[in-house]
Amino acid sequence: MSQSKNKEPSSIKGTRDILPPESRKWQKAERFLQRIFESYGYKEIRTPVFESTELFEKGTGETSDVVIKEMYTFADKGGRSLTLRPEYTPSIVRSIIENRLYLKPDLMRFYFIGPMFRYDKPQKGRYRQFHQADIEVFGEKDPEVDAEIVEMAYTLLKKLGVKNIKILINSVGCRKCRPEYHKKLKTEAEKQRARLCEDCRRKIDTNPLRIFDCKKDTCRNAALGFPKITDFLCAECQSHFEKFRSLLDFYGLKYSVDPQLVRGLDYYTKTTFEITSSKLGAQDAVLGGGRYDEMMKDFGGPDICGIGFAMGMERLLSVMPDIDEPEKFLYIVHIGEEAKKVSMKLAQYFRENGVECVLEYKDRKLKKQMSRADKLKAAWSLVVGEEEIEKNKYQLKDMRTGDQKEVTKEEALKRMIG
Ligand code: AMP
Repeated sequence: MSQSKNKEPSSIKGTRDILPPESRKWQKAERFLQRIFESYGYKEIRTPVFESTELFEKGTGETSDVVIKEMYTFADKGGRSLTLRPEYTPSIVRSIIENRLYLKPDLMRFYFIGPMFRYDKPQKGRYRQFHQADIEVFGEKDPEVDAEIVEMAYTLLKKLGVKNIKILINSVGCRKCRPEYHKKLKTEAEKQRARLCEDCRRKIDTNPLRIFDCKKDTCRNAALGFPKITDFLCAECQSHFEKFRSLLDFYGLKYSVDPQLVRGLDYYTKTTFEITSSKLGAQDAVLGGGRYDEMMKDFGGPDICGIGFAMGMERLLSVMPDIDEPEKFLYIVHIGEEAKKVSMKLAQYFRENGVECVLEYKDRKLKKQMSRADKLKAAWSLVVGEEEIEKNKYQLKDMRTGDQKEVTKEEALKRMIG
């Protein structure tokens, strides 16, 4: 243990515990997301939390801020360079190639919900361990898929009660049209070099597109005058973008085109999008994603296109209304040693039949146990004493209404789940 002897242990900066009752809200959101994703044909893939560092350098991109500044990279005892995943897409692509999933007849639509790690500056909405709900589609190149994904994202946010949602879209072109844009952007950025921060000056040479990721006001203002990628799209990207937009109209979704929406990762081609909520404050993106038609091929796999999005769970939870679900459990009150044993059997019976059941083993007086049931906000209490055991009937109390009735265990079960 690295903690000194008398110092209380504390969590690592940028990480946090998810405690009850907040954890209930997480479970509810996770279950809801799983249901929605599965209703659109997605299946879950779980991959390891760490991968080879090279996977992210290659996938997320060597010029992205995530790779340059934010990766949790370490050497294991065998001297391998490993990285805690900062995002999910490269892991899924690796898994598809390694497991030859593209040879199966199944749809290649996958989802995942779990932790990601980035050495980011901790602040509201930005953590070092955070969670993403991620979906990815492979082998479907039509703009209908791009629109369906945005429609799904919008629908689920609406259904979860998230307010003040905005959809932002863009096209970042492809390997045919982007080089020309890069050249032009580099020339224009060079002219503004003096106004840019040191980081962005470096980006002029490495990847000028990444200047749009900078959050500094001076850089953002300078970038306002830069050429727009949407003016440089080739015929194929232009047509894809137009169809995508018309399909969003078809779904009745309002959106804005933001030509600076290049997103922080290097791999995007054609469509990019983000959904924001003004309720989030400065870090207002709930989710973001786009197409990455070249990644699988670049990884040495087949030429299969991909598209997906990642949603920040912490951000989603912070704008999702609280759930006010009352507790549903039964608290068994027992008096005496024999009653404790009978209660343990009863608890087994109720739990087997789907009733949440709490039994505390410390010897306490009846009144004290009833007040514990009250404090813990039990929905029901069941009193088990000598007399009850003899009659095989127990006092069941509805803790909300105060109604009380003598019942057998079968009758109690019926009342609670009926
Ligand atoms: P990205 O993988 O960078 O495209 O991010 C996708 C989504 O993940 C963002 O829209 C955020 O909701 C969330 N996100 C990204 N980085 C963080 C972070 N450091 N802390 C919390 N949420 C994050």
